[in-house]
Amino acid sequence: MAFFQTLSAPFNAYMQWLHLRWPAGTPEALPVVGQDGATSIPGLRIAGDLLGVPLLKFAADSGARAVQAFIAEHAFNDSQNSEILDLAIIGGGVAGLSAALEAQKAGLKFVVYEASEPFSTIVNFTNGKPIFTYPKAMQPAGDVELTATNKEELLAELRAQADKAQVLFENKRIDHVQRKSGELEICFTDKTPAVKAKRVLICTGRSGDYHKLNVPGEELEKVHNRLFDPKDYTSKKVLVVGGGDSALETAISLKQAGSVVQLSYRGAEFTRPKPENIQTAQRVLGDDILFESTVSRIEPDKVVLKTQQGEQDLPNEAVFVCLGREAPVDFFQRSGLEVHGLWTAKKIAGFALAFLTILFIYRWKKSNSEVSNWFYQQHWFPYNLDFSAWHETGSAVTKLLFEHLASPGFYYELAYCLVVLVFGIKRILRYKTPYIRWQTISLMSFQIIPLFLLPNFILPLLGQAGAFDSEAGAWLADQLFPLIPGTEIREYWRSVGFILAWPLFVWNVFTPTPNALWLAIAMFQTFVLIPWLVIRYGKGAYCGWICSCGALAETLGDAHRAKMPHGKFWNKLNMSGQVILAFAIALLILRITAWVLHGTSLGETIESMFNLGFTGLSLLGIPLNYATVVDYFLAGIIGLGLYFHFSGRTWCRFFCPLAALMHIYARFSRFRIFTEKEKCISCNACTAICHQGIDIMNFANKGAAMEDPECVRCSACVYTCPTGVLSFGRLGADGTIIPDSLPASPVLMRETAK
Ligand SMILES: Cc1cc2nc3c(=O)[nH]c(=O)nc-3n(C[C@H](O)[C@H](O)[C@H](O)COP(=O)(O)OP(=O)(O)OC[C@H]3O[C@@H](n4cnc5c(N)ncnc54)[C@H](O)[C@@H]3O)c2cc1C
Ligand code: SF4
Ligand code: SF4
Ligand code: SF4
Repeated sequence: MAFFQTLSAPFNAYMQWLHLRWPAGTPEALPVVGQDGATSIPGLRIAGDLLGVPLLKFAADSGARAVQAFIAEHAFNDSQNSEILDLAIIGGGVAGLSAALEAQKAGLKFVVYEASEPFSTIVNFTNGKPIFTYPKAMQPAGDVELTATNKEELLAELRAQADKAQVLFENKRIDHVQRKSGELEICFTDKTPAVKAKRVLICTGRSGDYHKLNVPGEELEKVHNRLFDPKDYTSKKVLVVGGGDSALETAISLKQAGSVVQLSYRGAEFTRPKPENIQTAQRVLGDDILFESTVSRIEPDKVVLKTQQGEQDLPNEAVFVCLGREAPVDFFQRSGLEVHGLWTAKKIAGFALAFLTILFIYRWKKSNSEVSNWFYQQHWFPYNLDFSAWHETGSAVTKLLFEHLASPGFYYELAYCLVVLVFGIKRILRYKTPYIRWQTISLMSFQIIPLFLLPNFILPLLGQAGAFDSEAGAWLADQLFPLIPGTEIREYWRSVGFILAWPLFVWNVFTPTPNALWLAIAMFQTFVLIPWLVIRYGKGAYCGWICSCGALAETLGDAHRAKMPHGKFWNKLNMSGQVILAFAIALLILRITAWVLHGTSLGETIESMFNLGFTGLSLLGIPLNYATVVDYFLAGIIGLGLYFHFSGRTWCRFFCPLAALMHIYARFSRFRIFTEKEKCISCNACTAICHQGIDIMNFANKGAAMEDPECVRCSACVYTCPTGVLSFGRLGADGTIIPDSLPASPVLMRETAK
């Protein structure tokens, strides 16, 4: 055991240094939503806290925007059925009120269904609780006004607005929503007849169960999840458990009402609460904040805490467990809504289908595979196409095109470019920041010009025009695009090596005989150009602006970012890329050594070892060599097969050997995502959207600059952050911050425009 520990120590130290030192928090299970709260169920949108940002202003903003989006839908305006509701709003909180005001303004027939009482979340706040209306500069859409500074004022302000607009709340709990014959049905828990509506807006907040401690004694009567009136606990010995705003606010209120309060938090410092709450808690509680402590058990007259110093008994009369609430996942599932990270039978079936489709496409486009041979024998597409008549008369370009149209691989490449183009334009139109505009244009351009047009059209046409006939031209072409033995056809496909570097694209380096020019180009890219780029601008300069996999992930993959799993296990899996990189480096050493020792028996042995590792090795008929496992299976089939269920960056995050190499360079990079701690509301929206699995919130709420080498500079976190905490930049040689010149945060753009 000790031997293995000693043996693994350097690897563990390396993994810590490279990546595992970074935080690995996980986002909450929330429903999958698109723009303005749209869901996978037509006509059903979500607003308020369920979108991931638990703030009053965002609740108001999203409620109004969702109704505006409904009204803008053609199908909604064309719908003639006046018998049913135009809109059913589920949940009478701030988002529900904002939606109701908007619906009323538009003259819609609507009802707000509320399970307990209007604004019940706020009613349940501790009496006298101060209200912080962040972000201060934000002006939410819609008409809800939020000027109050404590709970009572806020309730009065909201009720007055509801009364003035005569918004009626119907006291009903919704069990689920279902879609039948093109209409939505709202089904109640009391089994009264379902109500039909053209559109439904879910604004139920995080009304699921409270998070639990899961310790003995939690069921005792003295254990509560929320505090109504702190005066009830004057002079009592109370323990508050938690490290968020609600824990701190509970502890502060109790202390101010004369309780003997201690606050237990498992972390070493507070990172999530608002700065005002941290300052007040530190002032009023002082040493009664017990950091790095966890509750072991609760007994009638005491609580046993586990601390750094061992177990400690605290005399106790009441416990408040303030760990927040889960989103009502059951409700979403009953309503057929997709929830991040949850697998249903339908999702598993969809995943299997997507995977098999990609597998089929890959076998179809691969020459000499069982599928392509079968298609060829049956004269199925594209082997049934006959362009011979056109061939006689067409121009050089059309002749070339017809040659390509006979090959399945060409359709794959064409489809890839079209998808990048179409989804790229969609991305530019959707996210209106200069960063996204130029990044997407760059990705589309690299994909279409040097990776598609150059090998398929530009180079072959230059060849036909005689560009490679002169002595110098022929030498260059022979080096870069040698003739396929026995033919007059040049390997123009090798030109993708101008953009895709070794060890992502290995075919220009792992050649049977040395190709000095490609070797020089590849080594220059991999060991000079890319390190310079990464050290100056971050790994994302290549992965987010140039590479073809990045092009697809940032365009087609845009809608699937939040599907990337987060957490410690997945962060460890990131290290797979290092194993593949080691394999690629071993092959490179074998390859070069075999060339150097060519003609000797040792050279022959090394050559066969290289061939085995690169293309030859298989076990029980299963290929276990680099070309099949890494280049074909992981990069192609796994990378695309998992696209719609694990995000578009599966290959990039876990397996890409070039990324693994760039992670080493990135440890010396000056690129950072800078954070403004005081603006961070710990909403976790940035972590949830990161398709490289980075726990960006954990940098932001500590005020630390994000330097996780995994970052591909996609800008999704910077764009999504509701308070403009995050910005791209790099550290100058003297430690000063040099911000990126391209704005990437709409919040910061609005603030600087003022
Ligand atoms: C302790 C605490 C302190 C906070 N402090 C602040 C602060 O200082 N500043 C700030 O900006 N934000 C604060 N917030 C966040 C803020 O309260 C929320 O962002 C806001 O209330 C969300 O509004 P909502 O309409 O999305 O949901 P909610 O206000 O939670 O409303 C949801 C409503 O839906 C109803 N409902 C649930 N399920 C059903 C169902 N099945 N059928 C019918 N009705 C249903 C509920 O009864 C509830 O009334 C705080 C939150 C908490 C918990
Ligand atoms: S991780 Fe690899 S495949 Fe993905 S974008 Fe970067 S270099 Fe390309
Ligand atoms: S820019 Fe943000 S979202 Fe994108 S990879 Fe980097 S940390 Fe993740
Ligand atoms: S950085 Fe922004 S998105 Fe991330 S947790 Fe903080 S406020 Fe939320």
